[in-house]
Amino acid sequence: MAINQNTSYINLKKSFTLRVADHRQRLPSSKIYGDGNAVPRILKFLKSIDLKEPLQKKFCFPPVKDNISQDIDHILETQSALAVDLGGTNLRVAIVSMKGEIVKKYTQLNPKTYEDRLALILKMCVEAASEAVNVNCRILGVGISTGGRVNPREGIVLHSTKLIQEWSSVDLRTPISDALHLPVWVDNDGNCAALAERKFGHGKGVENFVTLITGTGIGGGIVHQHELIHGSSFCAAELGHIVVSLDGPECLCGSQGCIEAYASGIALQREAKKLHDDDLLLVEGMSVKEEEIVSAAHLIQAAKLGNTKAESILRTAGTALGLGVVNILHTVNPSLVILSGVLANHYVNAVKDVINRQALSSVKTVDVVVSNLADPALLGAASLVLDYTTRRIY
Ligand SMILES: [Zn+2]
Repeated sequence: MAINQNTSYINLKKSFTLRVADHRQRLPSSKIYGDGNAVPRILKFLKSIDLKEPLQKKFCFPPVKDNISQDIDHILETQSALAVDLGGTNLRVAIVSMKGEIVKKYTQLNPKTYEDRLALILKMCVEAASEAVNVNCRILGVGISTGGRVNPREGIVLHSTKLIQEWSSVDLRTPISDALHLPVWVDNDGNCAALAERKFGHGKGVENFVTLITGTGIGGGIVHQHELIHGSSFCAAELGHIVVSLDGPECLCGSQGCIEAYASGIALQREAKKLHDDDLLLVEGMSVKEEEIVSAAHLIQAAKLGNTKAESILRTAGTALGLGVVNILHTVNPSLVILSGVLANHYVNAVKDVINRQALSSVKTVDVVVSNLADPALLGAASLVLDYTTRRIY
């Protein structure tokens, strides 16, 4: 050990001495200053400047040849984005203005195969882009919000759960950008919802906030120091898959006990069907027609009409979601949690109750609110385009 230390000390000393010797060596000046006369030239130039006269005086704008700019159309048009939202059920495309106004919206069922889906996205985008001309909107780019994990740098969907089938390793940017000749940005739907809140909703100007969106599944986004967190492999903020129980219901991700398996639209529908099959769903004042599909809405209706079993299922779902939020508070300590999606209103009080009961006192100052945005995923997709200059990453 002692010998090794000694050898390395000698080596260090040698290399230091060599470096000192190198430094002393005079390099030919041309290697540093080109021809070696740069410094005298700069000094001569500085002496020539009359410092009493401001330098800008010599600059003037080029003369405008024509009184009416040929680009006047572009000034009258509203700067807008094409927003695409790929959800578990629907595929939507919209023209969204800079102010967040949804000028035009198209909705179709999200096809089950990759080929059909991509073809439909392209068809709807082309239709919307040509309509944009009629409604005086200038499309700056395409923003896509999709379920699944996304590499936003490359515009690729890496992997999706069974909610959207045939949706792994899909390059969305290239075919859409090629077809429309526009820049294309892609991000996960939860992240887009957070971007929408940051630009148009309760998250405006808030440094640290989290949004949870409950629809067919559950997604989320974390904004930390005004920026989205994507994580090392773009899997951050998969808030729907926060596990709150060791032996809870099975989740579409393959795990069990995730908050999505308790509180998403699909989870509530599963429970509603079970109740209906056992003749326990319907109470006085409600009915389900034979051809009607039993849904989460029936469960909520039954609970409102006094079905105690339905009430208990919704209470458990709210508690699971609340526990998920408590875990989030203990992980990133945001000052605001925004719940969005169709089920947000049903869950907000349950979430607040669980926070009061189970969160550490220091995080209880968090505000929990329901989003006031009608379409967070679409608005977030638009924000990918409209706000791209203000994002530090992607
Ligand atoms: Zn899961």
